[in-house]
Amino acid sequence: MHELAVTGQILEIAERHATEAGRGQVTDLYLVIGELSTFIDDSIQFYWDIISRGTLCEGARLHFTRVPARLRCQHCSCEYGLEQGELMVCPACGHGRVTILTGQEFRLESLELAEKEPS
Ligand SMILES: [Zn+2]
Repeated sequence: MHELAVTGQILEIAERHATEAGRGQVTDLYLVIGELSTFIDDSIQFYWDIISRGTLCEGARLHFTRVPARLRCQHCSCEYGLEQGELMVCPACGHGRVTILTGQEFRLESLELAEKEPS
């Protein structure tokens, strides 16, 4: 259920930006999700459609960018992605102490606002 919580946070941030900018609707949101993040695009979209109703973000489109995981072995400093090795085992030396460089992110990268309608 944590998708609901993070989706709520995104909505809050987007609404605040739209209000501060003195603009009307939010039309597009660009989200970055790491490969290792457990967030699921479809769940976020599902909650988004529900909680954005009646807000400045109603009808806004969500765009997802997946960031591939990069890992670094703490033993031999070899850097690798999940296509080359396993999450917690270095493919070069077999060591099990690995630093996660990227892949855990979840953030709102940018958003687009509609021009305010002339009154
Ligand atoms: Zn290694």
